[in-house]
Amino acid sequence: MRVLITGAAGFLGSHLVDRFLREGHEVVGLDNFITGSPDNLAHLAGHERFEFVRHNISTYTYVAGALDGILHFASPASPIDYLEHPIATLKVGALGTHNALGLAKAKGARFFLASTSEVYGDPLVHPQPESYWGNVNPIGPRGVYDEAKRFAEAITMAYHRAHQVDTRIVRIFNTYGPRMRPHDGRVVSNFIVQALRGAPLTMYGDGSQTRSFCYVDDEVDGIYRLFLHGDAQPTNIGNPREFSVRELAEIVRELTGSSSTLAFMDLPEDDPKVRQPDITRAMTMLGWEPSVDLREGVRRTIDYFRQILPS
Ligand code: UDP
Repeated sequence: MRVLITGAAGFLGSHLVDRFLREGHEVVGLDNFITGSPDNLAHLAGHERFEFVRHNISTYTYVAGALDGILHFASPASPIDYLEHPIATLKVGALGTHNALGLAKAKGARFFLASTSEVYGDPLVHPQPESYWGNVNPIGPRGVYDEAKRFAEAITMAYHRAHQVDTRIVRIFNTYGPRMRPHDGRVVSNFIVQALRGAPLTMYGDGSQTRSFCYVDDEVDGIYRLFLHGDAQPTNIGNPREFSVRELAEIVRELTGSSSTLAFMDLPEDDPKVRQPDITRAMTMLGWEPSVDLREGVRRTIDYFRQILPS
């Protein structure tokens, strides 16, 4: 196959590029580096089945040659990023998804949307099955991301129904691992970087809010299987094991051997109190479930940050 991956220089996008190349496919990677980094693709310089195009998918996009798949992963995705780039976030979810769908239709390519657990907002149903419609504040600070992704899902289903485009929608839950940026702002990378520097761990609120953290290799494996063997309905891909942020802080302190203290700070507005995927659909349809537990994944992520951080 020859596939186009938008957001190819991002954390998840670059791991997905690696997976498609490892499976023997050709990949065209596209990114405008708003939050992605060329470093994430540096190891692919000169790779004969990989080409890179620096471009903003939210503007008119043309890619020469046949395409079998388009995987739309471009978007700021960390709360600090989409707060800094609110309009670009709305545009890439709306205009970027429209452009990518139009290209998929023109090429007869399968379209794969990277959606998010944020479509469930601050959920009133726990854990979250795909049938839950969510509890989102459209005008809050997170609304730019949540509503962009909800629009992206809606237009993906519209192209599926009106134009018979073969589509997939993955709802990605908190994912972590190597290639996260040290200043990404997400809790796993923040805590590890702070612990390695001996700085206080920034705990937003009292740390009783929960998340369910998926190691990147598991996430990419679920995405790859969904691309090949899924259907058009949205599918949760994430690790169902739920931890409080406080528990995560303890695990990071233990595994880094750090004596960092905790610095309690205000909980950001509309911060979801709980989050846990119901992955029954992925397990049944794809035979997929995560295999890397949090301690093992955090260990590997600590190793990565030890390598890239100045000592
Ligand atoms: N969080 C925290 N300290 C940090 C960063 C995040 O306590 O330095 C909390 C944040 O308030 C949220 C959870 O950790 O409750 C996960 O935040 P993250 O930004 O990783 O992702 P989210 O799931 O909120 O999109």
